Amino acid sequence: MPTPDPAVPYETAAPAPDALPGALPLLSMPASRARDARPGITAASPQELISWFADRGEAAFRARQLADHVWSGRATAFADIHTLPAELREALSDSYRFDTLTQTERRQTDAGLTDKALHVLDDGRVTESVVMRYPARGSRRERTTLCISSQAGCAVGCPFCATGELGLWRDLDASEIIDQARYWRGQLAAEGRRITNIVFMGMGEPLLNADAVLTACAALSDGNRFGLGQRHISVSTSGVVPGIERLTALRRQYTLAVSLHAARPPLRDVLVPLNRRYPVHDVVAAASTYAEVTGRRVTYEMVMIDGINDTAADAQAAAALLRDRLAHVNLIPMNPVAHTPWQPSSAQRVEDFAATLRASGLHVTVRRNRGADIGAACGQLAAERAGQPVAAAVARRREIIERRSAAALLEGAAVNGAAAQGRRSQPSGRA
Ligand code: SAH
Ligand code: SF4
Repeated sequence: MPTPDPAVPYETAAPAPDALPGALPLLSMPASRARDARPGITAASPQELISWFADRGEAAFRARQLADHVWSGRATAFADIHTLPAELREALSDSYRFDTLTQTERRQTDAGLTDKALHVLDDGRVTESVVMRYPARGSRRERTTLCISSQAGCAVGCPFCATGELGLWRDLDASEIIDQARYWRGQLAAEGRRITNIVFMGMGEPLLNADAVLTACAALSDGNRFGLGQRHISVSTSGVVPGIERLTALRRQYTLAVSLHAARPPLRDVLVPLNRRYPVHDVVAAASTYAEVTGRRVTYEMVMIDGINDTAADAQAAAALLRDRLAHVNLIPMNPVAHTPWQPSSAQRVEDFAATLRASGLHVTVRRNRGADIGAACGQLAAERAGQPVAAAVARRREIIERRSAAALLEGAAVNGAAAQGRRSQPSGRA
C-alpha cells in the first residue's frame, strides 16, 4: 500500500474501514479520539432505569422522576435534577452521559426555513441533522421536519451523495441518534415550534445500523419518552433486504422509504452500489411485503440526474417495476455535490418522467430541490469540513463514475434495442 502523503491529509489513502464494493470514498473524517465508555441516558429503556435504581435500593418512581427530566428538556445535566438526591445524581453521571452531543455547529439557509447542524461526537467524528420548516399553506398545517443521521459517514457510496464521499467511519449509538431529536426539540421550543416528522435521511444507511435505529425509533415513538407517532417517523433505506424484513416483522407503522434511483439493475449497480448485494427486484419485493403486512404505502425516492437515470427507458422501467404496488414515488432533482460530474435533470425531463409513471396509475410527487432539501443537505457540512481532496483524485473518481454509468446506459440501450427488435419480429395480429 502506498505511504500516505502527510501534505495531503484529506485524500483517503486507504479505503474507508467498511466500504462496500463499488463505493469510491474520496474524503476522510476528522481524527478520532478515544470514546467515552458511558452510554447515553436516552437509549436506556424504562425497564433498564428501574433496574438501575433497584440495584441501589431505590423505588421505581425514581426512574419516572429521572425520565421526566430527560425528556422534558428542562435539565441539561444530571446535576439539574433536584428531585433526585445528590448521591444518586452523581451515581447516574458515573453510569451514563446525560447528552451525547455536547458540541454542535449551526448554519441557517433558505431565509431561515432550514437549519443544518454538525454534531461533534465524543471521539471527534461528526454527524449531521437538518430541520426544515414548512409554513402552513391552505388547509395544510404548519410542519417541521427533522432529518437525522444513523451513522458517521456511509459505506454504500452512492456517487451523487455527499455522505458517500466520506466512507463509513462508524455507526451511531441509539442515544446519539435520539439526542439529535432531543437537541432540536429544545431549540425549536424556543420559537414555539414542535417537530412533526422525523426522517432518517441524514448521514448513513439506517438498516445497516438496525439495532440502534430500531431502539431509537422505539424511544422516539413512545408516548412516555419522545412521543412522536410511528407514522411520523420515516426510515429511508438504499435497499438492505434483511433490514426491511426485520422492520416488517416488527409490525409497526413507521413509514418505509426506499431509495430506488434506477429500476434497471446495471444502472442501479452504479447509482446505489448496494444493488450488487441486494438486487432491486428483491428490494422491491421486500418493500411490497412491508406494505402488505403494515398497510402502509411505501415511498420510493428517485434522485433525478441529467442524462443518467431520467431517460424515457428509465421511466418505463420504473413504471413496470412499481405498477400495481402500494407505492408513492418522489422525484427529486439531484442537488449538485462537489465531486461528481453530474447535474440535476431539467424540470421538463422530471415532468415527462412523472407523466410516464402517472400513466401507469402511480402516485407521484415532484419535489423542489430547495437548496437544502432532505438528504442532499446531510453530509455536505461534514464533507466541507473534510476539506478539498487533491484535484487528481477528484478527476480519477469522476472518470470512473462516468465510465461505469456510460457502460450501464449502453447496456440499457442494448436491452431496449433487443426488445424493440423482438417486438418488430413478432408476427402481427396475435390472438
Ligand atoms: N442511506 C439512506 C438514507 C440517507 S440518504 C438512503 O439512501 O435512503 C437520504 C436520501 O437523500 C436518499 O433518498 C438519497 O438518495 C438522497 N440524496 C443523497 N444525495 C442527494 C443529492 N445530491 N441530491 C438529492 N438527494 C440526495
Ligand atoms: Fe449512503 Fe444514502 Fe448517501 Fe447512498 S444516498 S451514500 S446509502 S447516505
